[in-house]
This record gives sequence, structure tokens and C-alpha cells, in this order.
Amino acid sequence: MGEARVSGLLDEHGNWDVKIVRDLFHESDVHRILTTPVNVQLKDVWRWLGDLRGLYTVKHGYRLLTSAGHLNTAITGFQSWKALWSFPVPPKVRNLLWRCVRGILPVRENLESKRVWVGRGCLFCDFMFESVEHIFCECRFAQRLWGVDDILQGRCLQEFMEAMLGSLSVESAVRLAAIIWVVWETRNGILWRSTTPVAENMNAQVRALQAVWKEAFTVATRTGSVGGVLANWETPHHNALKCNVDVVVLSNGIGYGAVVRDHEGRFVAARSGRL
Ligand SMILES: [Zn+2]
Repeated sequence: MGEARVSGLLDEHGNWDVKIVRDLFHESDVHRILTTPVNVQLKDVWRWLGDLRGLYTVKHGYRLLTSAGHLNTAITGFQSWKALWSFPVPPKVRNLLWRCVRGILPVRENLESKRVWVGRGCLFCDFMFESVEHIFCECRFAQRLWGVDDILQGRCLQEFMEAMLGSLSVESAVRLAAIIWVVWETRNGILWRSTTPVAENMNAQVRALQAVWKEAFTVATRTGSVGGVLANWETPHHNALKCNVDVVVLSNGIGYGAVVRDHEGRFVAARSGRL
């Protein structure tokens, strides 16, 4: 993201490209971004967040570092920040994973601990507590996505994510992110739009996101910008192409996706559809 520019979020008329902004950012930030006036005459420049004029001073840097250190000690044992922030998924998904690890996701258990009373139970299954461990791992909807009953094996979510981030292939890491994203989006759909969760649809969404992110972030992974996560995809022989395919069984047919890449791992072609 180091080369990302605000201009990449604007359309040809110099207005915010709503679709791109919605794709990249979290819902709560989208409104703030879209209401920020833009001036195409001005160039993108780096600004230091801790200063009104955007100027960096050592004093500001020191203050930020000491306060960040204070925050990080609140999460006992979690070390994989670098792997988390370079995860091959969109920034809004990384932000969600970060909020999971920091324990600041507004699940009912966290809200209750801050004396915000909004009811208690799981929105999926009426279990009496809504904790991150329950909705992302223990709830029967989550179990269906993981394909196992006890993915946590006695660990809290932070410990589980630490283990996943530290030791897995890109494929499994992206699956973790896709499951957490789909569960959270579905949960918010139940809460805010009174939608009914369908396990089969959630499964299809996880598979679809995995395929999209894998394709979108493969080049970044191969150029080494994804630290801490190992790729298990191997390039084909020189001058050969490799085609990876995947299918998913839906309630009304079969969905498929295929990606073709060359011997340097560069994207050549992709196709997806229903049979
Ligand atoms: Zn539940």
C-alpha cells in the first residue's frame, strides 16, 4: 500500500469513486471519506497524523511510539502484527482482523464489558453469549465454515489467530480472513437488516472471496511484499502456463473459477461462472 495515492480513489471527473472506496474501506469509514472534499489541483503529499499542519517532529514520533507501546502490551502474547498487516486481503479485512485481535470488535460481550447493554445472545443461534470465540469459531454456523467442530481447541481467538498467522500457507491464511469477514458481515446483516443466515450461502461467499483475493494478491505475494506468510503455490516450468481451478456446490447448481498464470506467476486469464 506504500504506493497508494488518493488519486487512485477518484474517478475521471475528480470525484470519489464510490465503488472503489466501498471495496477498500470499512463501512464506518466510507461515509467519512465520501464527505471529505477533494481538490484535484493539489498533489498527494505525506502528512504526519500527529500534527495539525502535517509536519513530523521527533517529539511527536516519541509520543506516538510510547502510546502505541502502551496499547500493545494490552494484548498478551500476540506477536504477528507484521503478518497481520501484510495479509493478502483488502485493507478493510485486515482492519477487521486487527479489531478481533485487539479485542475491540463490538460483539455483545465486549459492549457489555464497557457497560453498553444491547442484549446478550448470539444472533445466529441464540447461544446465551456473543463472544468473538463463539461467533467466529464455536457457533454451529462457524463450525460449518471451518468444517470441524472444535477449531479453537481451548485457545482464545487471539491465540488461535497467532498460530494461524505464524504457520500457515497463504491459502489457509486467506481462508481464515474470508471466514471471519463473512461471519461478521452476515452477523451485521442479521442485526441491522434482519436477514436470515443461510450456512450454504455463507460457505459459497467464503469460497468466492478466497478465489478473488488469491487472484488479486498472488503477484504481491510472489514479489515478497507479504511478510510472514509463506506461499505454497509453485510456478510452472519455463514458458508453461498453470491453470488453478476450484468449484463450489450451491443450492441451485455449481459455481466454478479458474485462474491461469505464467512461469513467473503473472496473471494471464481468469474465468468464473455457474454450471
Ligand atoms: Zn451462535
